[in-house]
Parts: sequence; structure tokens; C-alpha cells
Amino acid sequence: MNSYGRIVDYLRISVTDRCNERCLYCMPEGYHGWENKPDHLTAAEILRVVRVTAGLGFRKFRLTGGEPLVRRDVPEIVRAMARIPGVETIALSTNGTKLAALAQPLRAAGLRTVNVSLDALDPHIYKTVSGGDVNLVIAGIRAAVAAGFESVKLNCVLMRGVNKPEIWPLVLFAAEHGLPLRFIELMPLTSTDVLTEKNFLPVAEVMELLAQKDELIAQPDRRLGHGPAKYYLLKNTGATVGFIGALTNPHFCDTCNKMRLTADGKIRPCLGNHVELDLRTTLRKTDDDDALRELLVTALRLKPFEHQFRENYTPCRPMTAIGG
Ligand code: SAM
Ligand code: SF4
Repeated sequence: MNSYGRIVDYLRISVTDRCNERCLYCMPEGYHGWENKPDHLTAAEILRVVRVTAGLGFRKFRLTGGEPLVRRDVPEIVRAMARIPGVETIALSTNGTKLAALAQPLRAAGLRTVNVSLDALDPHIYKTVSGGDVNLVIAGIRAAVAAGFESVKLNCVLMRGVNKPEIWPLVLFAAEHGLPLRFIELMPLTSTDVLTEKNFLPVAEVMELLAQKDELIAQPDRRLGHGPAKYYLLKNTGATVGFIGALTNPHFCDTCNKMRLTADGKIRPCLGNHVELDLRTTLRKTDDDDALRELLVTALRLKPFEHQFRENYTPCRPMTAIGG
């Protein structure tokens, strides 16, 4: 499906808005959005959306959340998705805390790639950012490497006053394990409170910091996937580092190929725009896939040319519900 000349063939599916961590920028301590009982899409409903979107030409699917691995049926969902005609790639975004036990079963089920969030290696800083235990994440990353995924990438959200000192240790860790590491600019996703002058650290500044330590060699855009990151090889360290300048790169949206399915069954054409269409009501009202198809095509037509993060965008609901 086409939007402003962009081929949209990638669906990110939030399977839950629940999470076992509390990241400062996503699900800060004291967040109350979970008090209501969730009404998440069932596995069968998720699979039906995957079947219909695959029929419309979607080829890549990512399970995310919240923390997708707090939902117990994820391996079964992956196994069933892998059998749907048209589904080429199934990917997962996770905080890694439950990956040690699940990496192998997920790989066997047909999961091809994994992105693990890792904002710090220092246990205290990691705990400050997410409330969790970095050792669980490291064990999860090692298990993912051992399970033989086609790619395992690390994601680090940049916060100047919090994890700037962790940037170089993370680069060395990525080099040691041969894993691409992406630095992501902080976005106003759950609340705008985190996006202060003090916290915001542009990717250009990180590139300058790394250039003082090593030589950055630009990598061809397509080698490491079709995502929004610009990749560089660090000549001496050997690390591959990607930069996701969601706020500072004016061309960030030019190649956007995705739509999102929220945990409660809304189709969302853009992360940084409030437009959403309700699929869940239709999923539960009728077995007629034409009605779903129509909603999905309408959503695509509503996909904006670019996000609104630079225009005093105020989030209307948390990232965990929308699906990161
Ligand atoms: N729980 C999983 C995880 O942490 O990877 C998957 C969901 S999480 C919402 C997906 C990605 O969004 C993570 O890489 C996370 O760091 C990123 N993210 C969440 N809130 C963000 C924000 N305000 N700005 C930038 N990235 C954010
Ligand atoms: Fe949970 Fe991921 Fe959000 Fe952190 S970024 S609170 S791990 S969903």
C-alpha cells in the first residue's frame, strides 16, 4: 500500500500495554493507566488482522508493547503468524528481561529478529532508567545470540542527564558481541515531562562524541534493514552504530513504511499523530474481512506526510498502549 510515494508494508503490533519495567520516558513510576482491566485483542483477533494486512501486501510484522513477553501466548502467536501466506518477517521488540528463557522457543516458532532495549550497562543507571535488573537483560541478549536469530539489535534512548556516560560502554559492549546498537532521540510519547532541555540529547551530539574516540564510516542505508536509522561503522572499535533522529532529522518520515496496531485494537497510521481507527469493534461484530480491509485502507489514506513531534505534540495515551 502506498502513502506519499512510500510503500507501507510493515505492521507493528502491540500485544499488551502491560510491562514489568518502568522506564522514565515510557511508563514512569506512579503511572496510573493500568488501573482499568485491559481488553486486549485475543491471539485469534491479532492473527485475523495479520491475515488481512498480509493480504493487503504487508510483509513485515513486529510484536511489541508494553513488554510483549509478559503475555504468555507470544510463542503461539508467532508460530501461527509464521504460517500465514505473505508474512515474510516476524520481529520482536523487548526489554530483554524475559528473553533468557524465551529466546530459543521464539526462534523455533519462527521469530526472525529481535530488538532489545538497553539504555545503560551500569546496574544503578539501568535501574534509574527502567526500575529493572540489567543482568536479566544481558542474559537475555546472550540467549538471543545463542538462539541464532537473523539479527539482534540493541536500542538505547538518549537522556543527557541520565545515561550520557553510558554511551561509550554501550558501544564497547555492542562491538564485543557484534550487535548493532541504535541511539534513539527522546520523543514525547507518554508524557512531555521527560522532554526537557536537560534530558534531550540530539543524535548529532552523540556522533560528535563518538567521532572524538573513533572514525565513523557511513554504511549503506539498506544493509541493516529498512528502518529509520542511519548506520555507521566505527573503524577501530568495530561497532556498528545507528542513529534515530526522530526529532532532529527533518527527513525522518520520508521512508516511513509502517502502521501500528494498538493493544486495544486501534489501527494507528503514525506514532506522532493522534489519528486512530477502531478495528476491535469490527473484529468482534462481523466475520466479514472486507469491513476490516476497508478500515485498514482508510487508515493508510489518513497516514500523514510527517509526525507532529516538532509542533508541541501532546501525547493522548501511553507508548505502551500504542506499541513502540
Ligand atoms: N518493552 C519493549 C522495549 O522496551 O523494547 C517494547 C516496547 S518499547 C515502548 C519500544 C521502544 O520504544 C523501546 O526501544 C523504547 O526504548 C522506545 N521508547 C519508549 N518510549 C520512548 C520515548 N519517549 N522516546 C523514544 N523512544 C521510546
Ligand atoms: Fe516497558 Fe519497554 Fe516502556 Fe520500558 S520502554 S516501560 S520496558 S514498554
